[in-house]
Amino acid sequence: MKIAIVGAGPTGLVAGYDLVKAGHQVRIFEKEPHYGGLVSTTPVGKGRVERFYHHVFTGDREFIEVAQKLSLTVRMRWQTPSNGIYLNNRLYPFTSPLDLLLFPELNFYSRVALGLLICRARKLADWKELEHLPAKEWIIRQAGTEVYQKVWEPLLQSKFAEEAANISAAWMWHKFKQRGSTRSYNFQRELLGYLDGSFMVLYDRLARAVEKGGGEIFLSEAVEGIAVQSDQSLVVSSGKRRERFDKVIVTIPPQALPGITRDLPPTVGRSQLSG
Ligand SMILES: Cc1cc2nc3c(=O)[nH]c(=O)nc-3n(C[C@H](O)[C@H](O)[C@H](O)COP(=O)(O)OP(=O)(O)OC[C@H]3O[C@@H](n4cnc5c(N)ncnc54)[C@H](O)[C@@H]3O)c2cc1C
Repeated sequence: MKIAIVGAGPTGLVAGYDLVKAGHQVRIFEKEPHYGGLVSTTPVGKGRVERFYHHVFTGDREFIEVAQKLSLTVRMRWQTPSNGIYLNNRLYPFTSPLDLLLFPELNFYSRVALGLLICRARKLADWKELEHLPAKEWIIRQAGTEVYQKVWEPLLQSKFAEEAANISAAWMWHKFKQRGSTRSYNFQRELLGYLDGSFMVLYDRLARAVEKGGGEIFLSEAVEGIAVQSDQSLVVSSGKRRERFDKVIVTIPPQALPGITRDLPPTVGRSQLSG
């Protein structure tokens, strides 16, 4: 099958890697002059550093499996993080349950409520009931306004800016679960993983493997539109080419999707285009 992938971030590169291995003909279109998406790096001294901070969790099985397939396990570094909260001109350690118990910026009941919120969230198996509930509402309901304003609101705002208040409780729940999973090997000590040389080492290898398998990566080539043909194939247009594909996988941010799929009827959007 001939498959186009829109976006050469982690999702696009891993999809490309799997598809060339499965024998498909793959073309990846990337808007930027480099691949890696949000995990792309910038040169710092003799090395490279991610534009946005990144790490993996011990429970990130898919990432660890890809690193193994690319013979990068030896370059994984697992470190114990030291997290802190900067509040009212003071930096407080905020890594272990003990840090939470001693956190003086919350009253005793709020500290207990925050601990219970995290424990309850980790025990909750089904995220679906949280999907349409904003994290803000969920946290305030479970642990109170003080906990939300002092601990979670600044974090959500630094990550999602003006979207902070709209972030789903399901996202927050997953973060609690993920962080919890990093302690499972050793209850108190949390471990976060990083690749020696930056995560770009992995994305470089994925890109080389895609090309070696006959795939192509077109950098600086934003997809401008996807149109369906009478034979149900899909034509992908960038500023430089128009090419016909059997399938298209879109990995760009969801808010950018309507801009390139305006020519598609909704049924095709569901059946042939995944993103
Ligand atoms: C501050 C921050 C910290 C994070 N920390 C972590 C972390 O520690 N651990 C972790 O696992 N995850 C972390 N993430 C999340 C992680 O970055 C994303 O899950 C990951 O980048 C998603 O990859 P993606 O390929 O789906 O999307 P993206 O990385 O967004 O890649 C999408 C790609 O599509 C390209 N594109 C967009 N429009 C077009 C177009 N029209 N045509 C062609 N190409 C296009 C973009 O240029 C981009 O390269 C963090 C995110 C942020 C913002």
